[in-house]
Amino acid sequence: MATHNLLLLPGDGIGTEIMAEVKKIIGWFNARGGATFETDEGLVGGAAYDAHGKAISEEDMAKAMSADAVIFGAVGGPKWDGVAYDVRPEAGLLRLRKDLELFANLRPAICYPALAASSSLKQDVVEGLDILIVRELTGGVYFGEPKEITDLGNGQKRAVDTQVYDTFEIERIARVAFDLARTRKNKVCSMEKRNVMKSGLLWNEVVTGVHDREFKDVELSHMLADAGGMQLVRWPKQFDVIVTDNLFGDMLSDIAAMLTGSLGMLPSASLGAPDAKTGMRKAMYEPVHGSAPDIAGTGAANPIAMIASFAMALRYSFGLVAEADMVEKAISATLDKGLRTKDLMSEGMTAVGTTEMGDAILAEM
Ligand code: ATP
Ligand code: MG
Repeated sequence: MATHNLLLLPGDGIGTEIMAEVKKIIGWFNARGGATFETDEGLVGGAAYDAHGKAISEEDMAKAMSADAVIFGAVGGPKWDGVAYDVRPEAGLLRLRKDLELFANLRPAICYPALAASSSLKQDVVEGLDILIVRELTGGVYFGEPKEITDLGNGQKRAVDTQVYDTFEIERIARVAFDLARTRKNKVCSMEKRNVMKSGLLWNEVVTGVHDREFKDVELSHMLADAGGMQLVRWPKQFDVIVTDNLFGDMLSDIAAMLTGSLGMLPSASLGAPDAKTGMRKAMYEPVHGSAPDIAGTGAANPIAMIASFAMALRYSFGLVAEADMVEKAISATLDKGLRTKDLMSEGMTAVGTTEMGDAILAEM
């Protein structure tokens, strides 16, 4: 069976602590045989700045470009608050996203049964929830030109942001969403605001076109993004895959995140275009949360978002579906047994630390 090349970029703060738990799982797979992994490690964020004055070195960038997948921890912390803007820790993350052209951001919102009761929403609303938000990440209002603030001279200023989408950008994100839907419940809901935005009209038209030409077997529906936000909170289980633009995706994925409990639970994947020869996509997997400087070094961080991000790599980069299921089931079983890190605590439970949680998941596997 194939050996897959991973670049591990633990970063700063709890990044290194939670990456250590992923390394154990990689070691377990390698010891088992079957699909195996070769890992290389690099520096990113404050750690890279301390070592060589940049948020990521050219050498590590080159490694990221040639790896089958990048597994990223988290960057930043108060230690680097004063550093110059273009070498600040976050610049390393942005450089990776840009150079790898990661245009598709995947954020699953899964509610593990053991945590349904402690959700901010009613238990029956979130129990068994498993949806996937596919957000366009490299276009739209975040990057469109003109983007400026002009002084109008009469004590007034004018701010302009521009939403720009070309057909090809919408087509490629739509294909990612439809492809993923085929591996799930085969349903895509596309969200935009065609009633007030030209880009929404084009989005709707292009997604429909891709569907009708290439993905007729997938069930497609459309929703205005504001109504979509409302429906996500009201009855999220009506959705399977949601595909939407950069701005709406930012907001809708944060809403979906809150359905599932702690920030420490949420993984993400960012995918690029498939390689013309191999069909492999450039990809980076990272937890949704940051470097959590407030708990860094205390051994209290929840490693589940990081481990679940690695499970996404198994699923989406390598097609190792059974292996991904195995990791996710081990997480679920560990929670069923009542193990909780501090961020997941509810009354009558005692907290375990990062390594204990990692070991327990490994034991389940
Ligand atoms: P960033 O700007 O890097 O996204 P942030 O300030 O938004 O950082 P996080 O670093 O994600 O926030 O942390 C937000 C809060 O959630 C903090 O109190 C942190 O301790 C907590 N937190 C984040 N991740 C975890 C985790 N894996 N386990 C436990 N607590 C976490
Ligand atoms: Mg944040």
